[in-house]
Amino acid sequence: MEKLKIGISSCLLGNKVRYDGNHKFDHFITETLGRIFQYVPFCPEVGSGLPIPRETMHLVGDPSSPHLLTTRTQIDLTERLIRYTETTLNSISSENLSGFIFKSKSPSCGLFDTLVITTPNDGTVKRGTGLFAAAFTKKFPFIPVTDEKQLQDLPLREKFIEQVFAFSKCQDLKQ
Ligand code: SF4
Repeated sequence: MEKLKIGISSCLLGNKVRYDGNHKFDHFITETLGRIFQYVPFCPEVGSGLPIPRETMHLVGDPSSPHLLTTRTQIDLTERLIRYTETTLNSISSENLSGFIFKSKSPSCGLFDTLVITTPNDGTVKRGTGLFAAAFTKKFPFIPVTDEKQLQDLPLREKFIEQVFAFSKCQDLKQ
């Protein structure tokens, strides 16, 4: 059986692209789901030219359009990330992805649970979406998405896999 192509946050495959020079290797995703999925890795932060290691960063402002700032030096990296994201998402269209697995909580890749500092003065935070994940789901609203935390939950895992196969079948029928 031909493996389905799935986009993935690169650090989940064990690639050392995180801010601290480390990775977030996920055994289940890489080894078990890797039997049915062919992964296409993306790291928006390294892809946009940031070094490894690098300063930590966080989202600040309105959760619907937050800014990406370095934590200590407060450098605004929003434009840099958005430039990379626009170029990458345009080229992703030709990859025929049937799904995407994001790294949770990341200011770039987090799907549901990235913290956004809404009021820097008193440190109020809300939950939001990382810049790359937000742009991806906006451009490709029908491609099934999840993160490594959801995949630990059996019903959510099964739902994602079913959605991926259904989406792939629809794409085949269209062609
Ligand atoms: Fe790169 Fe996303 Fe992993 Fe951060 S979470 S290291 S941006 S792939």
